[in-house]
Amino acid sequence: MRPTEDNYRHKGLRRALVDQIREKGIRDERVLEAILSVPRHFFLDSVFDRVAYEDRAFPIGESQTISQPYTVAYQTELLRVEPFQKVLEIGTGSAYQASILAQMKARVYTIERQRKLYDANKGFDYLKRFPSLQLFFGDGFRGLPTFAPFDRVIITAAAPEVPPLLIEQLRPGGLMVIPVNESADSQRMMRLTKRQDGGVDEERFESFSFVPMLEGRK
Ligand code: SAH
Repeated sequence: MRPTEDNYRHKGLRRALVDQIREKGIRDERVLEAILSVPRHFFLDSVFDRVAYEDRAFPIGESQTISQPYTVAYQTELLRVEPFQKVLEIGTGSAYQASILAQMKARVYTIERQRKLYDANKGFDYLKRFPSLQLFFGDGFRGLPTFAPFDRVIITAAAPEVPPLLIEQLRPGGLMVIPVNESADSQRMMRLTKRQDGGVDEERFESFSFVPMLEGRK
């Protein structure tokens, strides 16, 4: 069962979480504001109520996880999203990252390859507050050609390489944030900027550990 109440205790825990994330180096106040606003415990089963605001990943079923809040903040900061930009997310999972982006007024298109997780989000009432958040069931390696180009692309699973179709769907001047495998259990966070001439500039950031980005739907 999902919790539906957001009380003063939850809000206090959220403030403490934001302080922790700030101490770990996140500076973008718009990102921190979004983390303060979105009730993370809503995205987890109520058995996690007491721990939902610890800065760690948790299981959400189907062997998947809700990302650690620091990781969500880190990727969101790198993404430099502006209000009304079109953002493509690969790996909806719990829809927490998608909600953070929607809370920052982005128009979010998020894709999940697992039917059960997609269906769970379709019935998730909290998401209805974000009319510009759209859920898709599909294979993120293919992106969403019908809705391209996107101003921003964010991948929240460990990518074996940068998917070429997602670069194609990025508008010139747009940014992609993607964790790319550097070993069996570690990914290098990369930010790619698509140049006006279609070429791509790369920046490398810290290492993280994500669940794998897999081909096909399930
Ligand atoms: N953004 C999520 C993190 C989820 S973990 C959150 O905020 O909770 C990564 C998710 O990516 C998993 O749900 C997994 O099923 C999904 N995934 C993996 N490969 C994918 C692909 N090719 N296309 C779409 N989703 C994928």
